[in-house]
Amino acid sequence: MEYRVLGNTGLKVSVLGYGASSLGAVFREINEEDALQSVRVSLDMGINFIDVSPFYGLTRAEVMLGRALAGVPRGNYVMATKVGRYGASEFDFSAGRVTASVDESLARMKVDYVDLIQCHDIEFGNLDQIVEETIPALRKVCAAGKARFVGVTGFPLAALKYVTDRVQVDSILSYCHYSLNNTRLEGFIPAFKASGVGVISASPLSMGLLSNRGAPPWHPASPDIREACIRAAEHCRSKGADIAKLAVQMSLSNPDIACTVVGSASSANMRENIAWCSGKPDPELLAEVREILKPVHNKIWPSGRAENN
Ligand code: NAD
Repeated sequence: MEYRVLGNTGLKVSVLGYGASSLGAVFREINEEDALQSVRVSLDMGINFIDVSPFYGLTRAEVMLGRALAGVPRGNYVMATKVGRYGASEFDFSAGRVTASVDESLARMKVDYVDLIQCHDIEFGNLDQIVEETIPALRKVCAAGKARFVGVTGFPLAALKYVTDRVQVDSILSYCHYSLNNTRLEGFIPAFKASGVGVISASPLSMGLLSNRGAPPWHPASPDIREACIRAAEHCRSKGADIAKLAVQMSLSNPDIACTVVGSASSANMRENIAWCSGKPDPELLAEVREILKPVHNKIWPSGRAENN
């Protein structure tokens, strides 16, 4: 496993991170034992970055992580959780709520601190509140020793930039913006780097679009994106290849992205994802798949408040 430094934090994170939303059964009902195993296998195989949120499975993912990590020395992994999102349309970025939220997450995960505390899906909130109230409250949480660094996450890249242009933030987590069908994140990296902001990219499989199982029903992609991704997956199968492998390898290829966070509650999937990290994407297959996805390349969907998109 390769490790990269996250912005100015000094944290050395594995290039592939473990995304725990699957532990909250957001994609399908899960086998709890295998889900716990997927975390342990990931750590044993070199992953040290874990991303979660109270929102995933409405606290279930954090509780599951508390069980999976019992007995693992705290210094062995970099833990990132979030504040502000508590349901599909339940958000509260007020200083009081986010401060209490950190204590609740620590209790669920049975840890004394997290390495990174992130505002979850900021585009659903008032960005000026994030700048003026939420981030300063999270700095106080850091001063109290309950977190080390502060980040923001969300879908519209402009919203992430709006905040990092106005207040010092240690990292951003962007998702579905650096993979086979979308590379928009690339255009924003110079600005994030210039502000000393570490870059984390999530969802290399575009939340299931770039897999043989396909996207879950709630996936926000429009039918043309879904259909193009299905065609691309079929093309890979016809060549004896797995589109998930190509997607993971392509997503890891940008050295300015410190960590790419993939999610799976299946230990077999995580073994596969980690094994794929050591290889480069097949250039011929990559070119063919890019051609299939060309009509929908960089096509996105709205997320959150209209003014934040
Ligand atoms: P993803 O692109 O990682 O895709 C996950 C889906 O792909 C799941 O259905 C999983 O079972 C499947 N999968 C994983 N490995 C596979 C393999 N080897 N073969 C076939 N299928 C495989 O999307 P994601 O889970 O949404 O994102 C990863 C993580 O990133 C999340 O768990 C979360 O931690 C983080 N994330 C954060 C935000 C945010 O903060 N706003 C948004 C999206 C994702």
